[in-house]
Order: sequence, then structure tokens, then C-alpha cells
Amino acid sequence: MIVILKKNPDQNQLDNLKRWLRSKNIDIHESTGVESTILGLVGDTTTIDINLLNALDIVEDVKRIQEPYKKCNRKFHPEDTVIKVGNTQIGGGNLTLMAGPCAVESEEQILSAARAVKAAGATMLRGGAFKPRTSPYSFQGLREEGIRLLELAKKETGLPIVTEIMDASQLDCFENVDVIQVGARNMQNFELLKVLGKTDKPILLKRGLANSYQEFLMSAEYIMAGGNEKVILCERGIRTFETYTRNTLDIALVPSMKQLSHLPIIIDPSHAAGKYALVPSLSCAAVAAGADGLIIEVHCDPEHALSDGPQSLKPDVFGRLAKKLYAIHDVMGSMEEVL
Ligand code: PEP
Ligand code: MN
Repeated sequence: MIVILKKNPDQNQLDNLKRWLRSKNIDIHESTGVESTILGLVGDTTTIDINLLNALDIVEDVKRIQEPYKKCNRKFHPEDTVIKVGNTQIGGGNLTLMAGPCAVESEEQILSAARAVKAAGATMLRGGAFKPRTSPYSFQGLREEGIRLLELAKKETGLPIVTEIMDASQLDCFENVDVIQVGARNMQNFELLKVLGKTDKPILLKRGLANSYQEFLMSAEYIMAGGNEKVILCERGIRTFETYTRNTLDIALVPSMKQLSHLPIIIDPSHAAGKYALVPSLSCAAVAAGADGLIIEVHCDPEHALSDGPQSLKPDVFGRLAKKLYAIHDVMGSMEEVL
């Protein structure tokens, strides 16, 4: 249920209302905007009489909301969430470009990739240390050593790092990681989400291979319900009947999530396409659709990459693409009032 208050509500009446709601075991999430203040009521609101609330002097309107997700719901929090990472911000009109190899393979490989993506315009470095591979015989990642190498690359380039956690037992290694990625296969690993909800690190939550928008938002809700509100949603393509691409990029998710939620949205065109040649077009489409950023696989020597070489861009291609993406982002920003 949400309660929209009149402008400048009487503080005494507001305190009384909050006290009464709390006595009914209702949690209150207050969001103060320029025009109005909104109270998001979380808990069993079935016993609350909507007419009684509506009759209060300080109340403008009361709405019951159907959606089971509350904290990530835009109705509770009309302003976009902006997440600070190092010197950069995700959301709030910024374009975040996370780039780097699928997996950290060696010191030389990650350092050269980090230097190259930084020079090309990336704002964050990606690289998998714990790798969720379909086959147990494929390269599984350098694990702890991979994180150490990412930290080295961060130290040298100043780029914040984003890398995937696969199990809560790995959390200690993530102390110096700036953004913790939850991979598509773990989107509904609820025990992991609960543990991440108790951290204060930004979480890049990838949509599962076959999950609905509501399921995606419920997973974000798991993290936020634990107290960590720094969640970044990431669409990386879903399973459909099409086999030409590795997955099908669901661009409609971007404007849909902008309606449903206040969380920033990042698109991963690399895992969606599975083919490097498709990545630039999908990236441009994502920015034009209003995404807050992209996470793109870039490798200095894709032919010899230990994972996902076929979908990785070479740094020079990424550099040209980054220029185009910033330009599209600028145009979209300046057209906002027109459309
Ligand atoms: C990755 O980012 O390298 C990855 C494994 O992604 P996803 O979880 O989307 O498959
Ligand atoms: Mn990959």
C-alpha cells in the first residue's frame, strides 16, 4: 500500500500516523520528493482501512499496490536510484561502460585489457575470476588469484572492478571488489542473495536465462530486503526458440523496468549475441532504449581467449563503439523533452 501525503504535512499528525502504522507491525519507507512525500507500507496491510487513511487531513491519496516487490518498486520510490562506484555513478543520466574479458586469464592478459579498455573510454573493468561454465572440463577461472589480478589492474588504471561471485563462501575475497556480479545462473540462488543483502557492496544482478520481469524484480527484492539497496539490474538475453544468436536480447525490458522500478539497468550485449559482430548494434539499441550502461566483453586476443572469445570485441572496435555510444547517449538526453 502507498500513502501519498499532501505538501508540507503537519508533523504531529504525521508522527501519529506513523506510530499507529508501526503498532500494526507495518514497516514504513518514506520517500520525500519535491512535490510530495510518499509512505510505502510493507507488511500485512489487509487490516488497514483505506477509507480511514484517506480521511486524514495530511493524506492526498492511498493506493493498494498489487506487485509483491516493494523496495525496488518505482511506486514507492519515484526518483531513479543512483549508485556511486569509485569516482563514477551508475544511473541518474550517466552512461556506464563496463568492459573487459570474460575471464581473467593471466596478469599480462588482464593488465593489457584494462589499459586498452580504459584508453577506449570504459568507466569500469569487468573480468570473471570464478567462472560458471556449462562444462566442468572448461576453464573454471583463476578464482582467488583472478581477484588479486583484478585488484592489480584496478590499482594501475584506477578503474573500479566488477566480478562474479558464485557462492557465499567466496565473499571474503570480494573485499576490494567494487561491484559484485550475480550471474544469470544464480539469479534465484536465494541464500546467496540474502547474504549479499547483508553487504554494502553494489550488486550487478543478471536476469536468469528464463525468468520473467517479476521474478527478476523479486530477486532484487531479496537483496534489498536484507538492507542493501544498491542493486543494478542487468539484462543479458533470454532463452527463446532462436538459435542463431546465443540468447535473445530483450530490449523491451529497458523501458519496462524504467516503469516498474527505480533501479539502474545495464545491458550485456555480449552474452545476448554470442557473436562479436552483433555486439555494436545491440549496444547502440540498448543506449537508445534508455539503458544506464553496458557490460561488454573485450579481449586483446579473442582468438585465443579461454572463454567467450567469439563474442569478445577487440579493443579498437570497442573504442570506436564507445565513442558512438556516448554520442547516442548525448542525443537521447537532449531529445528527452521532445519525445
Ligand atoms: C559473464 O558475465 O561472464 C557471465 C557468465 O554472464 P551470465 O551470467 O550472464 O551468463
Ligand atoms: Mn562470458
